[in-house]
Amino acid sequence: MICCDATTSIMLVLSVRQLTKSYRSGGEPISVLRGVDLDVSAGERVALTGESGSGKSTLLHLIAGLDASDGGDIVLDGASIGALDDAGRAAVRRERLGLVFQQFNLFGHLTAKENIAGPLRWVHGLGRFEAERRAAELLDRVGLSHRADALPRHLSGGQQQRVAIARALAPNPSVLLLDEPTSALDPELVNEVLEVIRRLAIDDGLTMIISTHQVRFADEVADRVAFLNGGVILEQGPAHEVLSSPRHPLTARFLSVMDAERSKDAVA
Ligand code: ADP
Ligand code: MG
Repeated sequence: MICCDATTSIMLVLSVRQLTKSYRSGGEPISVLRGVDLDVSAGERVALTGESGSGKSTLLHLIAGLDASDGGDIVLDGASIGALDDAGRAAVRRERLGLVFQQFNLFGHLTAKENIAGPLRWVHGLGRFEAERRAAELLDRVGLSHRADALPRHLSGGQQQRVAIARALAPNPSVLLLDEPTSALDPELVNEVLEVIRRLAIDDGLTMIISTHQVRFADEVADRVAFLNGGVILEQGPAHEVLSSPRHPLTARFLSVMDAERSKDAVA
C-alpha cells in the first residue's frame, strides 16, 4: 500500500490511468475500453455497473492481468503493472489479487477445504498444517465450516461460490475483484452470496471492486459506484448519490431499466 495522494493522504491501492483495449474480431479492431481512469483506496468498495458489453469484465480482466492492455497504466500498491509480460502479470495476480468470477471454477475432485488449502500449498508454499488452518478459518468466514469435506458437486451453486470467495481471500490479496459473482446463480441462491460479500466488506474492510447489476446491493455495500458505458466511466461518485440522483441521462436510464426488471422479478 502506497500513499500517492499527498493532499488527502488517502492510501491508494490501485490506480488505473487512461486504460485502453480493443479486440479484433475479423476486420476492424473494436474499441472496448477507451481511456478508463479509476482510483481505489485502501478498504474502499467500488461497484462497477453498466449495461452488458460496456466493458466491466474487460476492465477487471486487465486489472487482474489476464489480458494485456493496449495503452494506459495500472498501478497496484505503488508499482506499475500495466506493461508487465504474461509471467509478470501472473505473479502479481498470484500474490496480490483475489479473483471471483461468475463461474466458480472449483476443482471438482477436491473437497471445499482442499480447494482452498491446495493452492495455498502449491502456489503460495504454505505447509500442510498452516494451509489447512487458514482454509478452516476462511470456510468459517463464509459460513461453510460444516461443509468443509464436501465435494463441489454436493454443494449448491451459492455454497460453491462462497468457497470460491474463500479461496480468493485465502492468500490475503490487496484487492478482491469480483465479476458479477451472482449472475450464474439461481435467484434463490443470490442472497446468501451477497450476504457473505456484504459481511466481508463491512466487517473485514476489504478493498474490493465488484461488477454487478444488483443496484440495491451496490447501494448497501459500495462506497463508490462507477458507471461504465461504451468503454468509458461516464459517471462515478458516492454510491448513494449516483444511484439515487444520477447526473448523466444514460446512468439514469440504466438505473430505471434495472429497477423495472427488479419489480418484474418481484411480481413473477
Ligand atoms: P461487460 O462485462 O460490461 O458485459 P465486456 O467487457 O465483457 O462487457 O465486453 C465489452 C465488449 O468487448 C463487448 O462488446 C464484447 O463483445 C467485447 N469483448 C470482450 N472480450 C472480448 C474478446 N476476448 N474478443 C473479442 N471481443 C471481446
Ligand atoms: Mg461482464
